[in-house]
Amino acid sequence: MRVVVIGAGPAGSMAALTAAANGAEVILLERNEKIGRKLYISGKGRCNVTNSADFADFTDKIVTNPKFVFGALKAFSNSDTEKFFTDRGVPLKTERGGRVFPVSDKASDIVDALFLELKKRGVVLKTGVKVDNFVMENGKITALATSAGKFFGDVFVLATGGKSYPGTGSDGSGYALAQCAGHTIIEPKPALSAFAVTSVKTPYRVFGLNESGLPTGVSLKNITLTASFDGKRRSEFGEALFTDDGISGPVALTLSSYVNRAKKVALFLDFKPALDEKTLDARLLREFVSNKRLKNVLPALLPQSVAAWYAKLLPFSEKPCNSVTKEERKNLIAALKNLEFVAVLKPIEEAIVTSGGVKTSEIDPKTMRSKITENLYFAGEIIDVDALTGGYNIQIALSTGYLAGKNAAEN
Ligand SMILES: Cc1cc2nc3c(=O)[nH]c(=O)nc-3n(C[C@H](O)[C@H](O)[C@H](O)COP(=O)(O)OP(=O)(O)OC[C@H]3O[C@@H](n4cnc5c(N)ncnc54)[C@H](O)[C@@H]3O)c2cc1C
Repeated sequence: MRVVVIGAGPAGSMAALTAAANGAEVILLERNEKIGRKLYISGKGRCNVTNSADFADFTDKIVTNPKFVFGALKAFSNSDTEKFFTDRGVPLKTERGGRVFPVSDKASDIVDALFLELKKRGVVLKTGVKVDNFVMENGKITALATSAGKFFGDVFVLATGGKSYPGTGSDGSGYALAQCAGHTIIEPKPALSAFAVTSVKTPYRVFGLNESGLPTGVSLKNITLTASFDGKRRSEFGEALFTDDGISGPVALTLSSYVNRAKKVALFLDFKPALDEKTLDARLLREFVSNKRLKNVLPALLPQSVAAWYAKLLPFSEKPCNSVTKEERKNLIAALKNLEFVAVLKPIEEAIVTSGGVKTSEIDPKTMRSKITENLYFAGEIIDVDALTGGYNIQIALSTGYLAGKNAAEN
């Protein structure tokens, strides 16, 4: 039995070495000169390889089609990932939020462990080979047309990843291959993405981004960001970051995964989620006793650079604060608790993961086998499954890769 795996990210590497461990002759094709380029830059070069959450908490962090991967996550769980790497000389540590990293803080240790295991299990790795097409006969794949000629096999595993960070090799070319084998592609969208802001709305007027600018580089802790989209609302509490053209940071990345199919998105920033409007008004009254200009008092309420930016958006920021009217205080509170940004997601190329991909109802979740082309299996981000940050996406790639590799060998 010859299994040919396409793409040597975590999903394809795990599929290849598992198929080899189950007795198959395995060829792994990778367009780059090295395996795991995305894995190498993951977790800011530290590789958050999995998350230690229990099954219920883990699956709760999967945004799209969580149930589809239940079987894969049981077949190769987060504990199996931890054991796999520690047994191969890569000790791991668990950080805040259950995020698991190599003790060395080096993603390269994870990539090297996979590479050594591929060698140990006798997988034939062919790098610098881009797969361009499937050669199909009677509804089955018989060969792959590649940049290095034809490759023949009995069973094929498609693990070419998503469409984000195309410089790493995953540029979405696998979607056309899946379509060639009869599969439907759910339109790829950015997930775990920053937002680009187009305008800022205060209670007084709307500012285009060119006019308002943003307090670039400022990180805000303990804020709430709410997305309003298609008649729905979703709020996230935590940390956000102003970039030169928008909003990023953990809360923005999380929200992006839920709003990426919406037609229009508005973000509302609550700088003071711990204070309700009445309590905040009482605080303002306490602060606004002197004849200092309002803009000089705002730093008591907001980080210095945000306060300076914000003062420019308020028509009364030059006023002595003890002459600020009740109506102005009301508008100030509205802008502090509900500052509106009209926003769009940044392009998919800049997103951390891709939402969308091969339609899950066309894949058997117990085996990862195509329900359309009998000698084709899928693994990893090419499938329409995506999760939040925290090590979940790499674990999904490893789990689906394991299941695809095991079943491909037994096909
Ligand atoms: C900056 C960044 C940081 C991230 N950090 C984390 C993190 O810390 N934790 C986490 O869980 N997730 C993280 N992710 C997401 C995670 O890296 C991916 O979900 C995961 O790598 C997907 O694995 P995969 O094997 O399915 O695809 P990929 O890792 O994308 O691998 C696919 C492989 O297929 C190859 N390929 C593509 N097309 C072809 C073709 N036609 N012919 C031959 N080869 C082809 C590519 O070159 C690539 O090597 C991060 C992503 C990014 C972009």
